[in-house]
Amino acid sequence: MIGILGGGLSGLVLASRLRDAEVLEAADRPGGLCRSLTFDGFTFDPHGSHILFSRDPRAMAFYEGLLGENVCRRQRNTKVFYKGRYVKYPFENGLSELPVEDNLRCTLGYIQAYLARQTGTAPRPTNFREWLYYRFGAGITECYLLPYNEKIWKTPAGEMGTEWVEGRVPDPPLEDIVKSSIGIPTEGYTHQLHFLYPREGGVEALVRGLLPRVARVRTSFRVRSVARRGGVWTVSDGTEEREYDGLVSTIPIPELARALVDAPKDVRAAAEALQHRSLVTVMLGLTRPRLNEFSWVYFPTPEDGWFNRISFPSNYSDRVAPEGTSSALAEITCDRDDRIWASRDEDLVEHVVERADHLGVFRREDVVAARVARTPYAYVVFDRDHRENLDRVRAHADAEGIRLLGRFGQFDYINTDQCILRGLALAAEMEGSR
Ligand SMILES: Cc1cc2nc3c(=O)[nH]c(=O)nc-3n(C[C@H](O)[C@H](O)[C@H](O)COP(=O)(O)OP(=O)(O)OC[C@H]3O[C@@H](n4cnc5c(N)ncnc54)[C@H](O)[C@@H]3O)c2cc1C
Repeated sequence: MIGILGGGLSGLVLASRLRDAEVLEAADRPGGLCRSLTFDGFTFDPHGSHILFSRDPRAMAFYEGLLGENVCRRQRNTKVFYKGRYVKYPFENGLSELPVEDNLRCTLGYIQAYLARQTGTAPRPTNFREWLYYRFGAGITECYLLPYNEKIWKTPAGEMGTEWVEGRVPDPPLEDIVKSSIGIPTEGYTHQLHFLYPREGGVEALVRGLLPRVARVRTSFRVRSVARRGGVWTVSDGTEEREYDGLVSTIPIPELARALVDAPKDVRAAAEALQHRSLVTVMLGLTRPRLNEFSWVYFPTPEDGWFNRISFPSNYSDRVAPEGTSSALAEITCDRDDRIWASRDEDLVEHVVERADHLGVFRREDVVAARVARTPYAYVVFDRDHRENLDRVRAHADAEGIRLLGRFGQFDYINTDQCILRGLALAAEMEGSR
């Protein structure tokens, strides 16, 4: 039997395709980051607002298969909050909505960066900050991309690598920038322009669709030790031992390294050095029937508030909020040893409500329900040592015969579509090698 550590989407997809597997999950129900929460009639995705989209038709088909009729189809209507106005997202597709001097600065900077690349006079970027200037020019970088990215990653852009940006940071053609500057509508990041969202149950509806296909899930089993004796893996939560012929880990790499009884010191150190950000979400129910038309809004500057984004789940599906109401979810990235994580729930709610009321996003008196959630592992940070640390851990896992899978199982910036595709691919490989 194969033991799968972690019952998030990755572990469940894999388990659904293996003939003989057991999932061990620390929480009292599976789903990981794809769990949802309902209170006072409002349903939220407490580990960060989710939408379902993919460049890959196989992932789209998988979503559709899991959701069946329980699906809403939406077109993205996303904004960047910039100097008190809502500018179309991606920012570079909304240049004509900027104050005219900022439009000029952004357009000119983009063209200058473009020409420098074309003529080979721009030095190759060695970090994320340099890449932003190289790719977008000074205007777009300084008005939006740099403050936003430093706010969400809580890391200076000069200390981040660039391997993750492909497909993650929108990459517009020059023609779109010129059109955007003079006000001809364009769309960027088009594989995300249309998305799916479960009509009922939040993103956890995916998990509910998957669970009937998974034979064995042990919940409330926190993996604390993993050891191999002969050809058998023994996994324990401190009170009970489970034995497996093979092991796949989808739990965060540092958790795995701490549990591996025989892990060498340098592997443990590399695992602990992998950087990530945690997340606090503030979920709010509002008495207003339709707050706005937006999918979500980015807030790039520290002056806006601690949050980098506020999403409006009731605009994804009208079944996730009681009739005549709407909902908002603010996301704040943080670390588990910082003041945000340690803040009292009521202070976090008060901060978001006060800032949103001040900025005109919604009114304080409309808030009728509020909750806070904390997510220890939310974002992988691609600092400059990321690759080296990850390679060291991977080499050890390979040598031991442990397969790594998933967002924090592989410490990669992947969405649900990649979790699904990688889970399916690994299952095919493992079943094929039997
Ligand atoms: C803010 C945010 C927004 C996102 N938005 C989107 C989006 O819009 N669209 C999209 O497609 N994706 C989105 N994602 C990404 C998506 O949530 C993940 O890619 C996916 O859910 C990861 O699944 P996973 O199974 O790899 O990891 P996880 O969901 O993290 O699962 C790992 C599991 O391991 C368990 N575990 C941990 N330690 C132990 C232990 N010691 N023993 C046993 N179990 C353990 C955890 O409880 C968890 O259930 C978003 C993520 C975040 C954080």
